[in-house]
Amino acid sequence: MDCIFCKIIAGEIPASIVAETDTLVAFHDIAREAPLHILVVPRDHHTDVVELAAKSPAILSELVLLGGQLAAEHSNGSFNLQFNTGADAGQSVFHVHGHVKSRILKGA
Ligand code: AMP
Ligand code: ZN
Repeated sequence: MDCIFCKIIAGEIPASIVAETDTLVAFHDIAREAPLHILVVPRDHHTDVVELAAKSPAILSELVLLGGQLAAEHSNGSFNLQFNTGADAGQSVFHVHGHVKSRILKGA
């Protein structure tokens, strides 16, 4: 399968990784849309958040918790968590990922 996020998770393409767990990888978005903009990505390939919720709800919960942890570490804990779902909603990578965005960058 030709999936850019699977390749990042496999280490075949470089990314600015900020956190890894048994089930998730988090890295900086290459086209930052906020002072903090991290993508939290399940290691297993699912197309979108609806498929993830149906097949692996525990991993969706872990994704939300890691997003909160990263927002606390890198910002002040306030964040937006965005799942673009479907091409008409702006989804361009069809491997589920949560955009963790924050307006405040810790230490900035
Ligand atoms: P979406 O439009 O919701 O599917 O989000 C895909 C996101 O992945 C976009 O914000 C892109 O900037 C980001 N992106 C694409 N390729 C890479 C990459 N190689 N490393 C980091 N972020 C990427
Ligand atoms: Zn994938």
